[in-house]
Amino acid sequence: MAPVAAAQPRLTPAATQAALDALKQLLGDRFSAAQAVRDQHGRDESWALPLPPDAVVFPHSTEEVVEIVKICAAHGLPIIPYGAGTSLEGHVTAVQGGVSIDLMQMNRILQVNAEDLDVVVQPGVRRKQLNEYLRDTGLFFPIDPGADASIGGMVSTRASGTNAVRYGTMRENVLALTVVTADGRVIRTSKRAKKSAAGYDLTRLYVGSEGTLGIITEITVKLYGIPEAMAAATCSFATLEGAVNSVIQTIQAGIPVARIELLDDVQADAINKYSKLNLPVQNMLMLEFHGSEAGVAEQAEMVQAIASEHGGEGFQWATKAEDRAKMWEARHAAAYACKALRKGCEIMATDVCVPISRLTECILETKDDVVKTGLTAPLVGHVGDGNFHLSVVIDRSNPQEVETVEAFSERLVHRALRMEGTCTGEHGIGRGKMKYLTAEHGEAVAVMRAIKKALDPDNLMNPGKIFSI
Ligand SMILES: Cc1cc2nc3c(=O)[nH]c(=O)nc-3n(C[C@H](O)[C@H](O)[C@H](O)COP(=O)(O)OP(=O)(O)OC[C@H]3O[C@@H](n4cnc5c(N)ncnc54)[C@H](O)[C@@H]3O)c2cc1C
Repeated sequence: MAPVAAAQPRLTPAATQAALDALKQLLGDRFSAAQAVRDQHGRDESWALPLPPDAVVFPHSTEEVVEIVKICAAHGLPIIPYGAGTSLEGHVTAVQGGVSIDLMQMNRILQVNAEDLDVVVQPGVRRKQLNEYLRDTGLFFPIDPGADASIGGMVSTRASGTNAVRYGTMRENVLALTVVTADGRVIRTSKRAKKSAAGYDLTRLYVGSEGTLGIITEITVKLYGIPEAMAAATCSFATLEGAVNSVIQTIQAGIPVARIELLDDVQADAINKYSKLNLPVQNMLMLEFHGSEAGVAEQAEMVQAIASEHGGEGFQWATKAEDRAKMWEARHAAAYACKALRKGCEIMATDVCVPISRLTECILETKDDVVKTGLTAPLVGHVGDGNFHLSVVIDRSNPQEVETVEAFSERLVHRALRMEGTCTGEHGIGRGKMKYLTAEHGEAVAVMRAIKKALDPDNLMNPGKIFSI
């Protein structure tokens, strides 16, 4: 049996049962305490050990979420919102027991406002589902974490992905939210206007709040016109330094690349094996350009010139939609390609992000550390944003290996902090990165705690995440 962490239940078994009985009465067959369903909802795709909730509920409307929250508040039962379960820091684990609110059956696209370039969706809509739906409108939603995550989960982790260098992260792309607060009120954080100076920016407060402040039941996000022309390419480099310096110069020159992803040679090799591609086994960039035909040609020419100054060669172009899709599918499956490198092993995904001027230094020091430590840790990165990941392949049954990887991860985070960066560019804090929050934010954590206490005084919403109370 797979290992499970030890939960610290908030309530006695009898008090928990009373709350669950009330939830079952409200939801009927959309309530489940089946072990398999609880197990599925007690884990994400991370390295964190699973912690199953006491039960799972599947609401269909904001009104039902309100009723669920009121029952939980009356009984003091913790609430863990759940989207697609693809987060990477133990975000959905039930640290203190409680009920998992699975929002994936709230998956309707409510209103496409094509003229305003926005759309209103329920939280269980997945990113791919949204783009399929939008296809005939000539619009698209650019944020693309590798997994097919839910929009509610993406708001809650302040997600980004390969397109963020051009289109921004969820922080820049959420216009308004409907939220059920910990005391069962329904609030709307903003209207649909593109900007507003009316009061505190509650939208930004809930973006990245990881289910700790309320449950998001409706989301308005920005859309973009599908560009007239798109071209993707790969380019190889003899050195990692050359590849990263090309990225830095591209960004500093203000070239509006849509995607600029770094893969080291180990990652390229893993992708070739897993996704049956023929990438040169070298450090490389995967690039994409969006714009008019002339604009794309101009951007491509400028980036090619910069890359060749840094030893980049062998540009391979993909202009057909199916070729581009194949390349990005392989990039999105990079973590699974790493997992396949060692049978029976798991992946610990790191996620530091630094100011772009420090990126080469951070990546080279880190790569050196990987080699010295003797880890299998392919590197990929949304490097246009200064963000990179190592998928450290790890055998959990080997305590010495676990200790080595944890020490490596700690060194990496402190390296990024020393370079004025962050412990997480996009995955969030969850359970896994709690220990770094004070090192990163200092006294600001006390202000975060004060906000949490004001909005959720009984610590019902996803307790044991971001910081302890
Ligand atoms: C292979 C792979 C690649 C990935 N690549 C990226 C990447 O490139 N960029 C990136 O940013 N992330 C990436 N991720 C991480 C993950 O996909 C994102 O964190 C994603 O945003 C999680 O969405 P989800 O629907 O799976 O949320 P879940 O995992 O279900 O939940 C995440 C958090 O949000 C809360 N939550 C969920 N729904 C709601 C709601 N409606 N209201 C309030 N709180 C809610 C949960 O309580 C939890 O704290 C990747 C993951 C995998 C497995």
